[in-house]
Amino acid sequence: MSHTVKSGNLGYPRIGGQREWKKAIEAYWAGKLEEQQLHEQLTQIRLNNLQQQRDQGLEIIPVGDFTYYDHVLDMAVMFGLVPERFTYNGGEVPLDTYYAIARGNKEATASEMTKWYNTNYHYIVPELGARKPQLTVNRPLVAYREAKEKLGIEGRPVLIGLYSFLKLSKGFNEATEWDHWVSQLLPLYIQILKELIAEGTAWVQFDEPSLVTSVTNEDIARVKAIYEKIHREAPEISILLQTYFEAIDRYEDVVSLPVAGIGLDFIHGGDGNLAALRKFSFPRGKTLGAGVVDGRNIWRTDLYRQAELLQEILTLAPDADIVVQPSCSLLHVPVSAKQEQELDTVLHEALSFAEEKLDEIVALSKAVNQGIESVKSAFENNRIALDNLAKDPARNRANVSAAVQKISAEPAVRDSEFVVRRKKQKEKWHLPVLPTTTIGSFPQTAEVRSARQKWRKGEWSQEKYDSFIKEHIQKWISLQEEIGIDVLVHGEFERTDMVEFFGEKLPGFAFTKGGWVQSYGTRCVKPPVIYGDVDFDQPMTVKETEYAQSLTNKPVKGMLTGPITILNWSFVRSDLSREQVAYQIALALRKEVEALEQAGIEMIQVDEPALREGLPLKREDWNGYLDWSVKAFRITTSTVRDTTQIHTHMCYCEFHDIIDSIRALDADVISIETSRSHGELVHSFEEHTYDLGIGLGVYDIHSPRVPSVEEMTSMIDRALQVLDPELFWINPDCGLKTRGVEETVQSLKNMVLAASKYRAKE
Ligand code: GLN
Ligand code: ZN
Repeated sequence: MSHTVKSGNLGYPRIGGQREWKKAIEAYWAGKLEEQQLHEQLTQIRLNNLQQQRDQGLEIIPVGDFTYYDHVLDMAVMFGLVPERFTYNGGEVPLDTYYAIARGNKEATASEMTKWYNTNYHYIVPELGARKPQLTVNRPLVAYREAKEKLGIEGRPVLIGLYSFLKLSKGFNEATEWDHWVSQLLPLYIQILKELIAEGTAWVQFDEPSLVTSVTNEDIARVKAIYEKIHREAPEISILLQTYFEAIDRYEDVVSLPVAGIGLDFIHGGDGNLAALRKFSFPRGKTLGAGVVDGRNIWRTDLYRQAELLQEILTLAPDADIVVQPSCSLLHVPVSAKQEQELDTVLHEALSFAEEKLDEIVALSKAVNQGIESVKSAFENNRIALDNLAKDPARNRANVSAAVQKISAEPAVRDSEFVVRRKKQKEKWHLPVLPTTTIGSFPQTAEVRSARQKWRKGEWSQEKYDSFIKEHIQKWISLQEEIGIDVLVHGEFERTDMVEFFGEKLPGFAFTKGGWVQSYGTRCVKPPVIYGDVDFDQPMTVKETEYAQSLTNKPVKGMLTGPITILNWSFVRSDLSREQVAYQIALALRKEVEALEQAGIEMIQVDEPALREGLPLKREDWNGYLDWSVKAFRITTSTVRDTTQIHTHMCYCEFHDIIDSIRALDADVISIETSRSHGELVHSFEEHTYDLGIGLGVYDIHSPRVPSVEEMTSMIDRALQVLDPELFWINPDCGLKTRGVEETVQSLKNMVLAASKYRAKE
């Protein structure tokens, strides 16, 4: 077979190998860098990224994917869509206005930020309002020119397609105003394309990830209208319509759109796209962007297997031009695995970050074009690395797989139903009506953080650090008693991060040195790596909790991060299903729950703030995910005595559409955030009854402001119109670790007063 394929990329991490992007922007915000210097530094990073991709041999290099904060915000400001609450007089949006939209300023609050599809990246939601869109600057053209002039690279400009852009935006009524906004924005897209044509640009990449969500007939008609118009007005430019994160929902409709190329994700969404390709084939003469290297995880690609997949794709689309590419932009993986030599060799060798993934893409395309012999050593090294990983004892703990197999076949249920437990718990605990508690953490002051640093660096001995932590626990136990809280917590002073803390103690986890990915704006996270079977080693939280309990007669609530949150905030091994990995974590945490119970801690909170984050993109897949997530939570929490009270916590209020699953967690008490949209949440309880213990956050912990007693009593009154006072708890919205000591104490005092006012009325 004499096929030739090309190698291509869809987007590159912007943060730089040492997070220099973040540092430069934050220095600018702090007034330590002039705007001109910021431009210079970011230009350097941008050009380095392009050069890197060229040096690695990529034939198709995206341009315009780089950003000063967020690529969705870039689209909005390119169109002059500055929310009306910010001063703006037309023309190119000044840098400080750009950052004000993202972060807020004295004048106005920031735009909303929300999750980018099913990733942990968050984008700034464009606000369509009264301002008429205009093309303030042709960003793709600027990026294209820069790459060409400075590096001689014929780049491929990237934009978010209009369909997805509107789906990601807010401030308009989709049912009645869709056509209006298309008529406003489509001419601007066409203008961009015409200017690119005049410049000699051959291809652009239009990202349309919304095509992988559930798409209706009306949606398809909208997409068709957009791309037919573009095709009529700017036929000289070739468009790669790029989808990712899932299989496309309407394969036949999408591949027959009048565009030159379609990019498909062959990694995510099961074998949905491949099955569609097998069934319906691919239109003659189009380009097929074959996403065969996972852009979402950090593992080496199985090159032999993906080379076979490519061969099948070539057979199924014999008349198409094929581009070998990642499944999505590499924005979601760290920059380079080279600096991870400190990891165990087997693990280090099995990692593939952005740079390594580009090598894989180039190797795969060579294998097709020149035969596998031409890249034999790359393929062989790859096979050996993956074999070693598969054989690694850490991945083959027989006890773990046996336990998971066993639990998969069994239900995970408490001894008695909630009504029975409730009665027994009432007798055991003698709590007042509307018991007060907190979510777990108390202020992580500079003092706490610097103590941890000293201990990590070895400047402080374990004993010194332990006694420092004890002092803090002691201080906060007495403060909580003074304030009059009913159910106390130890304060989580020993924890940096709620996932890292457990990952560091559970076999099966590893931590990279430079595995940073952008979460939002300049905030980067370094997710733990779940590379082996997760197992329980020894108690992780008993020491501190037991100590706290020894200081008081009030109950101290144990505090754990739940299995789904640990899973969703980590890079997960790809040889097992997420369900299986979740059960492994759940079983390890079950042992911790049992250890706490044994140590006399009989209220235990298992936080699941990230449950919702794992929801699949297609609605029809929700139940599958929710079923095993709920089961994982129950594996962790179901073996305790009836009198032991299981709490959980979630920090969001979109609740109504997953309320049955939340009910199914069967937690004795749930605390949830509400104060930022209290009305909405209370409303959802008008429609759905919730008959387990529940605490709605009575104040927003994101602000240093001390809420008044009245504010909180009015929240409580509203909530009690729809919820049973016998089941109601009083707590803040979330953990208090980012707050100051003074404001925390004052706010909690007011919270306790609010509860006692209610009790006095009884
Ligand atoms: N127990 C955790 C804390 O209080 C919960 C954090 C969270 O909800 N994200 O910090
Ligand atoms: Zn929370």
